[in-house]
Amino acid sequence: MDAFSYKKEVFMTNHDLAELIFPNITKTIDDYEKQYPERNLGEGVKVTRFAPSPTGFIHIGNLLSTVIDYVLAKNSNGIFYLRNEDTDKAREKENAVDLIMKTLSHYDLFPDEYQIEEEIHGEYGPYIQSKRKEIYHTFIKYLIEIGRAYPCFCTKEILEETRNSQETDKVRTGYYGNYAFCRNLTIEEQIQRIKRGDPYVIRFKSLGDFEKKFIFNDLVKGKIELPMNDQDVPIMKSDNQLPTYHFAHIVDDHLMRTTHVVRGEEWLSSVPLHIELFQAFGWKVPKYIHIPLLLKKDEETGNARKISKRKDPEFSMSYYEEKGYPSLAVIEALMTIANSNYEEWHQQHPDLKFTSFPFSPKKMSTSGAYFDLEKLDHLSKNYISTLTKEEVYQGVLSWTKKYDPSFHKLLKSEKERSLAIFNIEREQKKPRKDFINWSGVKNQISYLYDSYFFEDYEKTYQDLTEEEEIEMDLLKAYIDSYQEKESESEWFEDIKNFAIHHNYAPSPKIYQEDPTLYKGHVGMICETLRHVITGKKESPNLFQILKIIGKEGLIKRFEFFQKQNLK
Ligand code: GLU
Repeated sequence: MDAFSYKKEVFMTNHDLAELIFPNITKTIDDYEKQYPERNLGEGVKVTRFAPSPTGFIHIGNLLSTVIDYVLAKNSNGIFYLRNEDTDKAREKENAVDLIMKTLSHYDLFPDEYQIEEEIHGEYGPYIQSKRKEIYHTFIKYLIEIGRAYPCFCTKEILEETRNSQETDKVRTGYYGNYAFCRNLTIEEQIQRIKRGDPYVIRFKSLGDFEKKFIFNDLVKGKIELPMNDQDVPIMKSDNQLPTYHFAHIVDDHLMRTTHVVRGEEWLSSVPLHIELFQAFGWKVPKYIHIPLLLKKDEETGNARKISKRKDPEFSMSYYEEKGYPSLAVIEALMTIANSNYEEWHQQHPDLKFTSFPFSPKKMSTSGAYFDLEKLDHLSKNYISTLTKEEVYQGVLSWTKKYDPSFHKLLKSEKERSLAIFNIEREQKKPRKDFINWSGVKNQISYLYDSYFFEDYEKTYQDLTEEEEIEMDLLKAYIDSYQEKESESEWFEDIKNFAIHHNYAPSPKIYQEDPTLYKGHVGMICETLRHVITGKKESPNLFQILKIIGKEGLIKRFEFFQKQNLK
């Protein structure tokens, strides 16, 4: 070693180290500050993001946080963007982004900014983390230069041994304080080992003291006190690689000018680390909205428990699509979890979209929120009852296209009848609330289509009760004399006259006054008629059903009934 090279080694700096690790990074963090300037948005305007990892799975908790993201952004005329957090390539599933985009459009939560492959929509992209490597490296390089990040050469074995001895000694596990072996290596040594080809990761150098409290504000939970972070976490897992989630999302949330971070409360304990990272760069910290765990009542124990991927099909978003819940009903169920006063607000403002709801994080439950399928059913029923017959038709049509092609075909070929069926007790002050979701519709209405009725009749038909035992000849006479009427009152007048003519009382009340005077009453004729032509003891409005089936259908069904010799 000559005198010159010795001198050079002695005066090695963080800058030399940073250059050695990132020789090709020529941009500075200021370049990126300029490239992604503060968004020119007014006071109170919010920028939110959905930042899923592309694991090919979206759960109900993801959607809850996305709905909140969306409402916060839209309610303030802000921006909601989608960021693909694909730094963990091992977990990535094919078509995962497709699934995410499809889910967002299905629920009408389409992002303002996003990226699909090379196609970037928005000024703050790329929105795919794996396409931002150079950006991250610039920011890691900066941290190395200012002495807040360093290469760590500890092998897996060393880390494992350390962990074991920490466990035996009953001390906190992790890479911190005296256990952060590589934090005090000299620059010369770091450089020498890198040059020698020793594998390394880059760690963040924490300045925190675990004994001290770290206080921050969460908009849902209020003031939170946690121990300060003192772990030197890896921010880049190996040479020239993508950074870890902790690091990448900090850089992105800053550069994409995110104002509110909405995510599951499992991230709460990492906030001291995240804020320390923001502060290492001197950046403003976004506001945090950590949403509580979704709970359900355990069917066996009756106790509250976390909704689980393993036990509960409703955990996965595919469940709602398969069941055919209208997307807005699912959104409303989530809005009700977000703020329990949502339903009341919605009743008061039936014409406003959910995005106008003044969501308040403070009003969210802090301890866990119930996601109740009964509640969803209730909201869904109400919602479907407000739709027009065409909207219901379209809803069932699009669901059946994927899940029940033969019924789909029938709906298309019998459009007029289908619309009439969906209109039963619909256009009225208190519309019928019979449909919960699209998958249940066929069972509820198939008897109104001849093809299903004649096929399923024996299966669905229940015996006539004694009360219904009215002469089949009488029913035949009614059907022969049946004439379609415009209004229900006209029709009922008609059947009452028919009843009187055949010595049946025109109302149950009159019949009850002295049953010996009559063979029965008009209600009995109606019930038997209903039963014979629908196969069911209960149905929606008989007058409307008769109109749909028509005289010809009525005769066909009656004859079929007799032929089957069911009675
Ligand atoms: N990629 C993280 C996840 O899927 C995002 C967490 C966050 O929103 O910061 O859980």
